[in-house]
Amino acid sequence: MGGEAKLAQRPSIFEIVAQEEMRGMVRRALRYILVKYATRYPRYLLRAAQHFDETYGLLLLLLERHHLREWGASFSENFYGLRRSRPAPDGTVRNLESKDIRRSLLFLILVPYLTHRLDEAYEDEASRSTLGLPAGSETSRANEPTWRRQCRRLLRATWPTIHLIIHGSVPVYTLAYAFQLTDFPSLWYHLTGQYLRRAGAEDLQADETRIKERALARTLALSRLPFLPRTLKRIGYLLQGAMGFLRVALPMGVFFLRFLEWWYASDYSRALSTRPIPPPPSPLLPASSSDEDTEGLHVPLPEDPKTCPLCQKPRVNPAALPSGYVFCYPCIWKWVEDRATCPITQTPTQPEAIRKLYLSSSAN
Ligand SMILES: [Zn+2]
Repeated sequence: MGGEAKLAQRPSIFEIVAQEEMRGMVRRALRYILVKYATRYPRYLLRAAQHFDETYGLLLLLLERHHLREWGASFSENFYGLRRSRPAPDGTVRNLESKDIRRSLLFLILVPYLTHRLDEAYEDEASRSTLGLPAGSETSRANEPTWRRQCRRLLRATWPTIHLIIHGSVPVYTLAYAFQLTDFPSLWYHLTGQYLRRAGAEDLQADETRIKERALARTLALSRLPFLPRTLKRIGYLLQGAMGFLRVALPMGVFFLRFLEWWYASDYSRALSTRPIPPPPSPLLPASSSDEDTEGLHVPLPEDPKTCPLCQKPRVNPAALPSGYVFCYPCIWKWVEDRATCPITQTPTQPEAIRKLYLSSSAN
């Protein structure tokens, strides 16, 4: 490949940053969905939500493995039309082989997972030391095995440096890549020894031929199989097809979630959603006084709403029940303590449910 052709295939720093951003968005979107549904279906999803990093890692493994094998790029790279390639010793560029795919997966999934976990573990350790808890000598850790104690000591000693190298490498590589001092957009690509390039016309042609040939080969293979294996194979192909569908559906879903996020944070939605205050619920009606069984448990509602239904005098020290009716506090306390009902509506009521009303004396 000539120098100029190589330059034309070199993705800009903006494409690299965009695909990184896309990865982060997929993670956030999945987390959002999982947490939302875990509160609704805790029986099935709570465990997955509690171990989000592991769940995400597993899903990502399936997704990225498929994309690397099918398109020679991670999911987000493929979305931006990028491909991974690896320079061969003779100077030519070749596509990924299975050992390259394994290495890619290592740096796409396992390394981010481990750094995240170690970050958490270190923060835990660091907060312990700032609280003045001497590491390894607390009572809860007294019977901890020695190797664990040594591991934690090692973490405290080395993690800040490793953390600095990982995070410090990001701006260094970004700048170096932007000024064409390196062809590796980040430390991880450097460690895998893989470059990114834009998918060219010949890549798309090759994809098309490959897909056609495979479809033909599958039809041929299927026609030779007996019924049961044929059905099983068909289901397998369908699942692979679903993975291909995700290639389009996942970015769409992520962008849609982003849109919703923006929408709910924006003034537009607030302007649209300021609805009028709903009318209050209709009051509980007094129980019918003709009922023989309620004798002694029931009082009629007085004509004047300022009169206490129990003592039939102007209300003093008002208190309300959940039914909405208001009495003098001493009157209703005594009634509810004796009978545990509302004197007007007969709804069961406990003394704890009585609410004192603080009004100006004229509003009694
Ligand atoms: Zn009263």
